[in-house]
Order: sequence, then structure tokens, then C-alpha cells
Amino acid sequence: MKQILQDLSRDELNALVEELGEKKFRAGQIYLGLMQGKKISELNIPAPLRSALIERFEDEPVRIVKTLTSQEDGAKKYLFALADGNLIEGVFMKYKYGNTQCVSTQVGCRMGCKFCASTLNGRLRDLTAGEILSEILAVNRSEGGNLKDRAVTNVVLMGSGEPFDNYGNVVRFLRNVTAEGGIAISARNISLSTCGLVPEMRKFAEEGIPLNLTVSLHATTDEERARTMPIANKYQISEILEACAYYFEKTGRRYIFEYTLISGENADEKHALALAKLLKGRPCHVNLIRLNEVKERPLRAAEERTARKFLEVLEAQGISATLRRSMGSDIGGACGQLRASYICSQNFPDGKFS
Ligand code: SAH
Repeated sequence: MKQILQDLSRDELNALVEELGEKKFRAGQIYLGLMQGKKISELNIPAPLRSALIERFEDEPVRIVKTLTSQEDGAKKYLFALADGNLIEGVFMKYKYGNTQCVSTQVGCRMGCKFCASTLNGRLRDLTAGEILSEILAVNRSEGGNLKDRAVTNVVLMGSGEPFDNYGNVVRFLRNVTAEGGIAISARNISLSTCGLVPEMRKFAEEGIPLNLTVSLHATTDEERARTMPIANKYQISEILEACAYYFEKTGRRYIFEYTLISGENADEKHALALAKLLKGRPCHVNLIRLNEVKERPLRAAEERTARKFLEVLEAQGISATLRRSMGSDIGGACGQLRASYICSQNFPDGKFS
């Protein structure tokens, strides 16, 4: 694969243009075009410069292959092809406060969570910073947005992949997506979800990117957690809580816990009480969501009324919590489902598309 031009920051683009012996203002033209979601071949620059760029860089790092719109809630699933033919996916959701794009950070995932479709075939490769950014630029353009009036206003790193297992590229992406003059999405409108890679959580606290740190907890003891999340064998809940406290100390931002309600596993009243005890007094919020069932997995979603009861117990214990709607369940809303079903139905055994 060639390099990804969208990996570069504005300053790095300036340096590249200088290296190519071009006038400085060309960097601004290139940057603006890329941020509008244009391919290199669509940039309004002299043809020789376009050719020089295309020789070195991928013309369209992320191409929209297919979109599916949920009849239930309007959530829109995007299937993207990368330049090497790998497939990734993202979801675009319209809310009252803005439009959220959920992005993937890796092709597949190697964390092995038992409820998740993304990890069924492990991790194929990391995405580069520019590929992650291009998911957003492509959707912003496709949804009729531009840089002044953006269609994508909020970003969540909750698609396929473990963001902190691709730390360097994800941090570079975050710096570029928040940069002034670009699509400029404020860190406050970005949520990053991790299964709890403790050393990276601590390192990230020092990056000076005050986003909404979200941790997938899904259990209240290490033993129970290890039943669905292999990473629990490596890091303890107590270490995760300490890393969250450190994040709060460094950034002043409350943190969030994701808790997926699975029938017979973690959704009973005793689990709600244990969760409340664990989190009491911490500057955090709990996002409850009923399991989005994955056909390859035997786990079942907790009943709606069990979920509501869980929420009531948490609230009665003084824990700030919400029960989120599970969006797009009719279009394979859960991570990795569309990619998996598409690969399966199109019979691309290696998960690639050309
Ligand atoms: N690897 C990161 C981010 C990707 S998953 C993480 O683990 O946080 C984003 C969120 O969706 C996580 O909270 C994950 O546990 C949850 N999730 C994955 N599969 C799900 C499913 N089938 N139903 C409900 N939530 C799911």
C-alpha cells in the first residue's frame, strides 16, 4: 500500500509541499480539499502536483462501499473499503444534540470479548491515523456536510478495534481531527472507549486531549469479567479504577463506564448493587445497554424490564446512569456485524474487497 496523505498534520503537509518544491499556498489548498473529503485526484491543484501526490499516496484511502439505514431509528451503517481491500465499518447516528459518527480503529480486534462480533477473526491490521480520519471525512461529505456546516459533529471511537491497542495512530488521529482549520471536532465531543488497557489509559491522561474516556466494564468482579473479557486476566478492575481516577486528576473530565446487560450473566439486581458499591462517590457515569445479540455468539440480551430495573437500582444508590437505546439492531448495529455478514454473504473468505 502507498502512504496515506491524510495521516499528515497541517505542518507536515507544509513540509511535504516544500520538499516537492511547490509554493507554500498549495499546502493550504491540499489541506482544505482533503478535509472536505476529496480524493487527491479531485483536488483543485496543478496536474503535475496531483500526479506527484498520487504516485506516493493513496488516492482514496477509505471508499464507501455500501450504506444501510435502520428502519427503526434512522441509524446509518457505512461499510468502507480500505486501499488494500480490507473492509471496515462505521455507524452514523442523528441525535438532538448533534450527529455522531462511530469509527473503527483496527481491522478486526484481538481482545476476544465473548459478546463482540469484531473480534471473531482476530485483528488483521491497525488503521493509520489518516484512515480513521477519512472515515469521518467521507461520511461528512456523503451526508452533505462541509467544514463550516458539519454533518458530523461528534465522534465516538467505538467501532471495530481497541483504540489503545493502536495507541500511536489513534493519538495522531485525535490531534488531527481536533486541529483548528480542519474538521475541528472538539475533544469534548469525542468519546474513546477502551476495554481497559491500564498503561495506555495512564499514558493517555498525559496527552492533553480532554475527551470523554469510556471504559467497557461489563462486570463487577475480576472473575466475572474474565468470563466475557479475556483482558480481565491481565488488568484488574481496581487498576482500571485507579487509572480512571488519574485521568480525572489530569483532565478534570468525568469518565464513563459501559455496561452491557447480558441475561443470566451480569444483569441481576445483585449485580446492580455491586456495581453501585464499586462506583459510589466516583466522578463517573454509567451507560447501560442491552446486549446487541450476535448470531455467532450464544449470549442473550437481558429483558427490557430487567434493564430498567438495573437502572432504577443504580439511580436509587445515587449513581448517575442512563439506559441507552441499542441503535440499528436491524442493520447489524453492534461492532463488526455488518462487516462479518457482508464478508460472509459475498463470500470473501479473507475479508477483503476489491
Ligand atoms: N474496544 C473498545 C471499543 C470498541 S467496542 C472497547 O472495548 O471499549 C464499543 C463498545 O461496544 C464496548 O463497550 C463493547 O463492549 C460494546 N459491545 C461490543 N459488542 C457488543 C454487543 N454485541 N452488544 C452490546 N455492546 C457491545
